[in-house]
Amino acid sequence: MILELEQLSHRYGTELAVDDVSFGLESGELVALLGPSGCGKTTIVQAIAGHVRPTTGRVVLRGEDVTDTPPETRRVGIVFQQPTLYPHMTVSENVAYGLNARDIEPARRDELVADYLELVDLHDQRTAAPSELSGGQQRRVELARALAPQPDVLVLDEPLSALDRTLREQLRDEIARIQRETGVTTLFVTHDQEEAMALADRLVVMNDGQVAGVGQPRTLYESPPTPFVASFLGRSNTLAATVVDQHPLTIALGTHEIRLDNTARELSAGTPVTCHIRPKDLSLRHSATPGTTPSLPCEVVHIADIGRRYDVTVQSITGDELVVEQSEPPNETGETLWVEFPPDSIQLFGPDTC
Ligand code: ATP
Repeated sequence: MILELEQLSHRYGTELAVDDVSFGLESGELVALLGPSGCGKTTIVQAIAGHVRPTTGRVVLRGEDVTDTPPETRRVGIVFQQPTLYPHMTVSENVAYGLNARDIEPARRDELVADYLELVDLHDQRTAAPSELSGGQQRRVELARALAPQPDVLVLDEPLSALDRTLREQLRDEIARIQRETGVTTLFVTHDQEEAMALADRLVVMNDGQVAGVGQPRTLYESPPTPFVASFLGRSNTLAATVVDQHPLTIALGTHEIRLDNTARELSAGTPVTCHIRPKDLSLRHSATPGTTPSLPCEVVHIADIGRRYDVTVQSITGDELVVEQSEPPNETGETLWVEFPPDSIQLFGPDTC
């Protein structure tokens, strides 16, 4: 591991902002630290950078405990949420600034500045002032400045949140390219699940100061360990149900029973459970499909045409509203249809998960 956080906790006064967080980054990995506003992401970044001394726990870089090491001697490159370029310096001078603290010969320093400006495709703007650059170009200068000292770890703290959507997507792809080319171990901090899933080899999902799930994006999306991860990583329909039989696991949604053959969970009869189902996994039919695929009668409440698909809201006979992604729309609202549930796409959570 290049970077390890070991049982990190941090209090601001009585507020527990980070609660026993442990995870690590392998060499060359891009890990996204993902969670809603206020879940403790920036506090973790500050602890890695050395600007916050965690109340308990350790920060370990390349096997060395750096919890008490001053920020300037840690080999961590950081791009913060807000731009931090010096307005009175040129682009080159800003990038060189990150190297001044290191004992580097001037010729080598100039070479590194040129190389990293080339990497972020800003060599032609090297004599410009930051104010002459677009928001996206300024972020790229900051990336070059963070990378030029060749840090052990690059930490990007919500670097795209101040940019508009198109620019955000362009720069996201640019960051992916730069990370691939340099192979720098990277922690990308964001509250945007799409951004995190598009970029990361692995996700660390946080909720309320704690780690709610760690894993590859697809695995966490398809098999979320908690209802929070299920809801945070994309839209999820939620249905309350009750276990009616343990072997094979059968649940009741209202008066309708569904058999979940693929579920290995040990949940005894009578246990209340929550089912999460992605809109893409549901489908609408004009009649119940004969065979084993469970379905419920429903009424179409709303049809949203969002271009490449239709998001159809239906009310099932259980009273629950569900969103169904369809490539073809139903005829009209008020129409009575059947909503079909492939049993292996249902994520089931018992009362002990949160
Ligand atoms: P955001 O995306 O909004 O920055 P975050 O996930 O980065 O949120 P933090 O900024 O680490 O979360 O904040 C975690 C919790 O600690 C929040 O409840 C916040 O109000 C609190 N907090 C953060 N900094 C301080 C501080 N300097 N003093 C007191 N409380 C703080």
